[in-house]
Amino acid sequence: MRRSIAAEVARRPNGDRFGLWGERGSLATMHGKERVIAPLLRRFLGLRVEIVGGLDTDRFGTFTREVPRPGSQLDAARAKIAAAFAGNPGVRVAVASEGRFGPHPIVPSAPLGVEIVLLADRDTGMEVSGQFVDLDAMWTHAVVTDIAAARAFAEGVGFPMQGVVVSGCKEQVPCPESGLFKDVLDRADLERTVGDVIARCGAACVETDMRAHRNPCRMRAIARATVTLIRNFRLRCPDWDRPGLVVTERIPGARCAHCGTPTRVIKAEASTCAGCGHRVERSVGPPATDPGRCDVCNP
Ligand SMILES: [Zn+2]
Ligand SMILES: [Zn+2]
Repeated sequence: MRRSIAAEVARRPNGDRFGLWGERGSLATMHGKERVIAPLLRRFLGLRVEIVGGLDTDRFGTFTREVPRPGSQLDAARAKIAAAFAGNPGVRVAVASEGRFGPHPIVPSAPLGVEIVLLADRDTGMEVSGQFVDLDAMWTHAVVTDIAAARAFAEGVGFPMQGVVVSGCKEQVPCPESGLFKDVLDRADLERTVGDVIARCGAACVETDMRAHRNPCRMRAIARATVTLIRNFRLRCPDWDRPGLVVTERIPGARCAHCGTPTRVIKAEASTCAGCGHRVERSVGPPATDPGRCDVCNP
Protein backbone atom coordinates (compact mmCIF):
# COMPACT_ATOMS: atom_id res chain seq x y z
CA MET A 1 0.00 0.00 0.00
CA ARG A 2 1.81 3.07 -1.19
CA ARG A 3 -0.55 5.83 -0.11
CA SER A 4 -0.87 6.62 3.61
CA ILE A 5 -4.25 6.48 5.32
CA ALA A 6 -4.23 10.24 6.00
CA ALA A 7 -3.57 10.97 2.33
CA GLU A 8 -6.36 8.56 1.39
CA VAL A 9 -8.87 10.36 3.62
CA ALA A 10 -7.78 13.78 2.30
CA ARG A 11 -8.12 12.57 -1.28
CA ARG A 12 -11.61 11.17 -0.70
CA PRO A 13 -13.73 13.92 0.86
CA ASN A 14 -17.39 13.49 1.85
CA GLY A 15 -18.59 13.81 -1.72
CA ASP A 16 -17.15 10.37 -2.52
CA ARG A 17 -20.28 8.24 -2.89
CA PHE A 18 -18.25 5.04 -3.31
CA GLY A 19 -15.95 5.57 -0.32
CA LEU A 20 -16.51 3.28 2.67
CA TRP A 21 -14.66 5.20 5.35
CA GLY A 22 -16.56 4.88 8.66
CA GLU A 23 -19.15 2.49 7.16
CA ARG A 24 -20.20 -0.82 8.73
CA GLY A 25 -20.04 -4.12 6.98
CA SER A 26 -21.18 -7.65 7.61
CA LEU A 27 -18.87 -10.63 7.08
CA ALA A 28 -20.23 -14.08 6.36
CA THR A 29 -17.92 -16.61 7.99
CA MET A 30 -18.00 -19.22 10.70
CA HIS A 31 -14.38 -20.21 10.26
CA GLY A 32 -12.54 -17.26 11.77
CA LYS A 33 -11.81 -15.39 8.52
CA GLU A 34 -12.49 -12.08 10.32
CA ARG A 35 -9.04 -12.50 11.91
CA VAL A 36 -7.37 -11.61 8.60
CA ILE A 37 -10.09 -9.79 6.63
CA ALA A 38 -11.39 -7.31 9.24
CA PRO A 39 -8.10 -5.57 10.21
CA LEU A 40 -7.11 -5.05 6.55
CA LEU A 41 -10.46 -3.55 5.52
CA ARG A 42 -10.50 -1.37 8.64
CA ARG A 43 -7.01 -0.06 8.08
CA PHE A 44 -7.09 0.54 4.34
CA LEU A 45 -10.75 1.20 3.48
CA GLY A 46 -11.93 2.48 6.87
CA LEU A 47 -14.66 -0.18 6.81
CA ARG A 48 -15.62 -1.92 10.06
CA VAL A 49 -16.78 -5.45 9.40
CA GLU A 50 -18.46 -7.62 11.98
CA ILE A 51 -19.37 -11.27 11.65
CA VAL A 52 -23.01 -12.22 11.26
CA GLY A 53 -24.27 -14.25 14.20
CA GLY A 54 -25.88 -17.65 13.70
CA LEU A 55 -24.92 -18.02 10.05
CA ASP A 56 -24.30 -21.54 8.75
CA THR A 57 -21.98 -21.02 5.77
CA ASP A 58 -21.65 -24.80 5.37
CA ARG A 59 -25.01 -24.82 3.62
CA PHE A 60 -23.26 -23.14 0.66
CA GLY A 61 -21.02 -26.19 0.25
CA THR A 62 -18.29 -27.93 2.23
CA PHE A 63 -14.82 -29.09 1.26
CA THR A 64 -15.57 -32.49 2.72
CA ARG A 65 -18.19 -33.23 0.06
CA GLU A 66 -21.21 -33.88 2.32
CA VAL A 67 -22.74 -30.61 1.02
CA PRO A 68 -21.94 -29.97 -2.66
CA ARG A 69 -21.31 -26.38 -3.69
CA PRO A 70 -24.10 -25.12 -5.93
CA GLY A 71 -22.73 -23.30 -8.98
CA SER A 72 -19.40 -21.53 -9.32
CA GLN A 73 -17.03 -20.16 -6.72
CA LEU A 74 -18.38 -16.66 -7.40
CA ASP A 75 -21.99 -17.90 -7.06
CA ALA A 76 -21.12 -19.33 -3.63
CA ALA A 77 -19.50 -16.05 -2.54
CA ARG A 78 -22.59 -14.14 -3.72
CA ALA A 79 -24.89 -16.50 -1.81
CA LYS A 80 -22.86 -15.78 1.34
CA ILE A 81 -23.10 -12.04 0.65
CA ALA A 82 -26.90 -12.31 0.41
CA ALA A 83 -26.97 -14.21 3.71
CA ALA A 84 -24.72 -11.60 5.33
CA PHE A 85 -27.10 -8.81 4.28
CA ALA A 86 -30.13 -10.81 5.42
CA GLY A 87 -28.51 -11.47 8.81
CA ASN A 88 -27.60 -7.83 9.34
CA PRO A 89 -30.19 -5.64 7.54
CA GLY A 90 -28.76 -2.32 8.82
CA VAL A 91 -25.39 -2.53 7.07
CA ARG A 92 -24.41 -1.01 3.75
CA VAL A 93 -21.67 -3.49 2.87
CA ALA A 94 -21.26 -7.27 2.99
CA VAL A 95 -18.07 -9.25 2.53
CA ALA A 96 -17.54 -12.96 1.88
CA SER A 97 -14.75 -15.23 0.77
CA GLU A 98 -14.73 -18.54 -1.05
CA GLY A 99 -11.88 -20.94 -1.78
CA ARG A 100 -11.49 -23.59 -4.46
CA PHE A 101 -8.90 -26.37 -4.46
CA GLY A 102 -7.86 -29.01 -6.91
CA PRO A 103 -4.95 -30.39 -8.88
CA HIS A 104 -2.94 -27.88 -10.91
CA PRO A 105 -4.25 -27.99 -14.52
CA ILE A 106 -0.75 -28.31 -16.02
CA VAL A 107 1.13 -30.12 -13.23
CA PRO A 108 -1.54 -32.44 -11.78
CA SER A 109 0.76 -33.64 -8.98
CA ALA A 110 0.78 -30.08 -7.56
CA PRO A 111 -2.15 -28.44 -5.75
CA LEU A 112 -3.83 -25.25 -6.88
CA GLY A 113 -5.82 -23.03 -4.54
CA VAL A 114 -7.88 -20.05 -5.66
CA GLU A 115 -9.25 -17.66 -3.06
CA ILE A 116 -11.68 -14.88 -3.80
CA VAL A 117 -12.85 -12.18 -1.42
CA LEU A 118 -15.93 -10.31 -2.54
CA LEU A 119 -17.30 -7.00 -1.29
CA ALA A 120 -20.79 -5.74 -2.17
CA ASP A 121 -22.20 -2.28 -1.49
CA ARG A 122 -25.97 -2.14 -1.22
CA ASP A 123 -26.16 1.65 -1.67
CA THR A 124 -24.34 1.83 -4.98
CA GLY A 125 -24.84 -1.72 -6.26
CA MET A 126 -21.07 -2.01 -6.61
CA GLU A 127 -19.23 -5.29 -6.33
CA VAL A 128 -15.42 -5.45 -6.02
CA SER A 129 -13.39 -8.61 -5.63
CA GLY A 130 -9.83 -9.73 -5.01
CA GLN A 131 -8.30 -13.04 -5.98
CA PHE A 132 -5.19 -14.92 -4.92
CA VAL A 133 -3.87 -18.01 -6.68
CA ASP A 134 -1.93 -20.21 -4.27
CA LEU A 135 0.51 -22.67 -5.82
CA ASP A 136 1.54 -23.87 -2.35
CA ALA A 137 -1.93 -24.57 -1.02
CA MET A 138 -2.06 -27.08 1.82
CA TRP A 139 -4.41 -29.46 0.03
CA THR A 140 -3.52 -33.13 0.08
CA HIS A 141 -4.84 -36.49 1.24
CA ALA A 142 -3.83 -40.09 1.82
CA VAL A 143 -5.72 -43.36 1.93
CA VAL A 144 -4.27 -45.40 4.81
CA THR A 145 -4.75 -48.94 6.01
CA ASP A 146 -2.79 -48.62 9.25
CA ILE A 147 -2.38 -46.08 12.03
CA ALA A 148 1.35 -45.51 11.44
CA ALA A 149 0.66 -44.25 7.90
CA ALA A 150 -2.01 -41.87 9.21
CA ARG A 151 0.41 -40.56 11.82
CA ALA A 152 3.13 -40.02 9.17
CA PHE A 153 0.70 -38.14 6.91
CA ALA A 154 -0.48 -35.93 9.79
CA GLU A 155 3.08 -35.10 10.87
CA GLY A 156 3.98 -34.29 7.27
CA VAL A 157 1.28 -31.63 6.94
CA GLY A 158 1.96 -30.01 10.31
CA PHE A 159 -0.85 -31.49 12.41
CA PRO A 160 -2.19 -30.35 14.87
CA MET A 161 -1.59 -26.70 13.81
CA GLN A 162 -2.87 -27.77 10.39
CA GLY A 163 -6.12 -29.70 10.89
CA VAL A 164 -6.85 -33.09 9.35
CA VAL A 165 -10.20 -34.66 8.53
CA VAL A 166 -10.73 -38.42 8.68
CA SER A 167 -13.39 -40.14 6.66
CA GLY A 168 -14.51 -43.57 5.60
CA CYS A 169 -13.25 -44.92 2.34
CA LYS A 170 -14.74 -47.05 -0.43
CA GLU A 171 -12.43 -48.34 -3.17
CA GLN A 172 -9.74 -45.71 -2.43
CA VAL A 173 -12.26 -42.86 -2.65
CA PRO A 174 -13.34 -40.82 0.41
CA CYS A 175 -16.89 -41.62 1.37
CA PRO A 176 -18.32 -39.23 4.01
CA GLU A 177 -21.49 -41.35 4.31
CA SER A 178 -19.45 -44.08 5.99
CA GLY A 179 -18.03 -41.72 8.62
CA LEU A 180 -16.70 -38.15 8.68
CA PHE A 181 -14.62 -36.74 11.54
CA LYS A 182 -13.75 -33.06 11.30
CA ASP A 183 -12.73 -32.32 14.86
CA VAL A 184 -9.73 -34.53 15.42
CA LEU A 185 -7.70 -32.44 17.83
CA ASP A 186 -4.58 -34.35 18.87
CA ARG A 187 -2.53 -37.42 18.08
CA ALA A 188 -4.38 -39.76 20.44
CA ASP A 189 -7.69 -38.65 18.95
CA LEU A 190 -6.35 -39.18 15.43
CA GLU A 191 -5.11 -42.70 16.17
CA ARG A 192 -8.40 -43.69 17.81
CA THR A 193 -10.51 -42.25 14.95
CA VAL A 194 -8.38 -43.78 12.17
CA GLY A 195 -8.39 -47.14 14.04
CA ASP A 196 -12.21 -47.12 14.23
CA VAL A 197 -12.64 -46.20 10.56
CA ILE A 198 -10.16 -48.85 9.35
CA ALA A 199 -11.94 -51.47 11.48
CA ARG A 200 -15.21 -50.60 9.76
CA CYS A 201 -14.15 -49.79 6.16
CA GLY A 202 -10.77 -51.53 5.75
CA ALA A 203 -9.14 -48.16 4.96
CA ALA A 204 -9.41 -44.53 6.03
CA CYS A 205 -9.01 -41.30 4.11
CA VAL A 206 -6.97 -38.68 5.94
CA GLU A 207 -6.94 -35.24 4.34
CA THR A 208 -5.98 -31.69 5.15
CA ASP A 209 -8.80 -29.67 6.68
CA MET A 210 -9.54 -26.84 4.22
CA ARG A 211 -11.58 -24.73 6.63
CA ALA A 212 -9.75 -21.43 7.15
CA HIS A 213 -9.44 -21.67 10.95
CA ARG A 214 -7.80 -25.11 10.61
CA ASN A 215 -5.55 -24.30 7.64
CA PRO A 216 -2.94 -21.58 8.33
CA CYS A 217 -1.80 -21.60 4.71
CA ARG A 218 -5.32 -20.86 3.55
CA MET A 219 -5.72 -18.07 6.11
CA ARG A 220 -2.63 -16.40 4.57
CA ALA A 221 -4.08 -16.82 1.07
CA ILE A 222 -7.34 -15.14 2.20
CA ALA A 223 -5.30 -12.23 3.60
CA ARG A 224 -3.55 -11.87 0.23
CA ALA A 225 -6.85 -11.97 -1.68
CA THR A 226 -8.11 -9.23 0.66
CA VAL A 227 -5.04 -7.11 -0.17
CA THR A 228 -5.83 -7.57 -3.88
CA LEU A 229 -9.42 -6.49 -3.22
CA ILE A 230 -8.13 -3.30 -1.53
CA ARG A 231 -5.84 -2.61 -4.50
CA ASN A 232 -8.70 -3.16 -6.95
CA PHE A 233 -10.91 -0.89 -4.86
CA ARG A 234 -8.38 1.90 -5.30
CA LEU A 235 -8.37 1.61 -9.09
CA ARG A 236 -11.13 4.10 -9.85
CA CYS A 237 -12.96 4.68 -13.12
CA PRO A 238 -11.92 8.07 -14.56
CA ASP A 239 -15.53 8.72 -15.66
CA TRP A 240 -17.34 8.58 -12.32
CA ASP A 241 -14.78 7.44 -9.72
CA ARG A 242 -16.28 4.00 -9.27
CA PRO A 243 -13.76 1.55 -7.69
CA GLY A 244 -12.72 -1.63 -9.46
CA LEU A 245 -11.11 -0.59 -12.75
CA VAL A 246 -9.28 -3.93 -12.94
CA VAL A 247 -7.29 -5.59 -15.70
CA THR A 248 -9.71 -7.65 -17.78
CA GLU A 249 -7.66 -8.40 -20.88
CA ARG A 250 -4.02 -9.02 -21.86
CA ILE A 251 -3.39 -8.18 -25.49
CA PRO A 252 -0.70 -10.06 -27.46
CA GLY A 253 1.12 -8.61 -30.48
CA ALA A 254 4.42 -7.09 -29.29
CA ARG A 255 6.59 -6.66 -32.41
CA CYS A 256 9.77 -8.63 -33.03
CA ALA A 257 12.91 -6.46 -32.55
CA HIS A 258 14.50 -7.99 -35.68
CA CYS A 259 11.77 -8.26 -38.36
CA GLY A 260 8.89 -6.29 -36.87
CA THR A 261 6.31 -9.11 -37.08
CA PRO A 262 3.72 -9.12 -34.27
CA THR A 263 4.37 -12.01 -31.80
CA ARG A 264 2.31 -13.73 -29.15
CA VAL A 265 4.10 -11.70 -26.46
CA ILE A 266 1.76 -9.39 -24.47
CA LYS A 267 1.99 -5.77 -25.61
CA ALA A 268 -0.79 -4.14 -23.58
CA GLU A 269 -3.27 -4.62 -20.76
CA ALA A 270 -6.83 -3.36 -20.85
CA SER A 271 -8.82 -2.46 -17.74
CA THR A 272 -12.59 -2.20 -17.81
CA CYS A 273 -14.97 -0.52 -15.38
CA ALA A 274 -17.60 -3.06 -14.31
CA GLY A 275 -20.04 -0.18 -13.71
CA CYS A 276 -19.97 1.71 -17.03
CA GLY A 277 -17.71 -0.26 -19.39
CA HIS A 278 -15.08 2.49 -19.63
CA ARG A 279 -11.91 0.90 -21.01
CA VAL A 280 -8.32 1.96 -20.44
CA GLU A 281 -5.44 0.40 -22.37
CA ARG A 282 -1.86 0.54 -21.18
CA SER A 283 1.33 -0.71 -22.90
CA VAL A 284 3.38 -3.26 -21.00
CA GLY A 285 6.88 -4.61 -21.56
CA PRO A 286 9.60 -3.24 -23.86
CA PRO A 287 8.62 -1.64 -27.22
CA ALA A 288 10.15 -4.55 -29.20
CA THR A 289 10.46 -8.17 -28.22
CA ASP A 290 13.22 -10.80 -28.39
CA PRO A 291 13.48 -12.41 -31.91
CA GLY A 292 13.72 -15.77 -30.05
CA ARG A 293 9.96 -15.47 -29.45
CA CYS A 294 9.15 -14.57 -33.07
CA ASP A 295 7.58 -17.25 -35.32
CA VAL A 296 9.33 -15.78 -38.39
CA CYS A 297 12.87 -15.43 -36.98
CA ASN A 298 12.69 -18.54 -34.76
CA PRO A 299 10.04 -20.87 -36.16
ZN1 LIG B 1 11.17 -11.71 -36.17
ZN1 LIG C 1 -16.84 3.57 -15.21
